[in-house]
Amino acid sequence: MIKIDNVKKVFNRGTVNENWAVKGVSVDIKQGSFVTVIGGNGSGKSTLLNLVAGYLKPDEGRILIDDEDVSNVTDYKRASYIGIVFQDPLSGTAKSLSIEENLAIAMKRGQKRMFGMGVKSRDREFYREQLRMLDLGLENRLKDKAGLLSGGQRQALTLLMATLVKPKILLLDEHTAALDPKTADKILKLTVKLVKENSLTAMMVTHNMKQALSLGERTVMMQLGKKVLDVDGEERKKLTVTDLLELFSRELG
Ligand code: ADP
Ligand code: MG
Repeated sequence: MIKIDNVKKVFNRGTVNENWAVKGVSVDIKQGSFVTVIGGNGSGKSTLLNLVAGYLKPDEGRILIDDEDVSNVTDYKRASYIGIVFQDPLSGTAKSLSIEENLAIAMKRGQKRMFGMGVKSRDREFYREQLRMLDLGLENRLKDKAGLLSGGQRQALTLLMATLVKPKILLLDEHTAALDPKTADKILKLTVKLVKENSLTAMMVTHNMKQALSLGERTVMMQLGKKVLDVDGEERKKLTVTDLLELFSRELG
């Protein structure tokens, strides 16, 4: 499904600031699987996700999605099959637009023509139903500006927007890191539910080692641009947070 094939990414090539953010990483991800990605700050996690999203082009190697090189796919097409949620709750929604207007935009995801952004009354019931599923009372606030929402409510709306047109892939970059633990937990449960219901293939970057080992079925650890751990099944079950921390400090040292 997602084939990351010996990918390298260098920033500021040929200058004193040359930085090999990703140094030859390969990961094969099966359709419908949920992979968690951990690693220290600056280890290349976000760069890897941005490469998969097609926001960045690899300097070497390639990324195939269903056997197609993402670098060769149009932005529209990529948008239709990849949903992405970042850490900052402000980044995913347009705060001066209403909840329903945000959802109307999300419905247009991947379409070349963005005309007619107005909310169709026949879509309203669908939006309400989707919002009800979030269980945050947003179904009664269709006309409220997204800017009025709390961080958690906004991330929930962003997740809904990212998955509304049923993409194949969901990329999550520390999307609960800015939330309090209780809200983060709620958003993670919602994430798992959306991934399952829509049979998405997901990659989730997190700093929370417990989350990394308990969610999904496979964990990848990055360190200094390289993949230093890639576990699933029984091997992953045996791993503890302490093991990860030990590996983490060993790699750093
Ligand atoms: P992580 O998400 O694991 O914290 P990143 O992938 O964001 O790490 O960054 C990896 C390295 O690449 C860091 O050293 C970072 O400073 C560098 N980097 C990331 N994006 C850019 C960019 N656009 N220009 C220059 N350097 C970058
Ligand atoms: Mg990052």
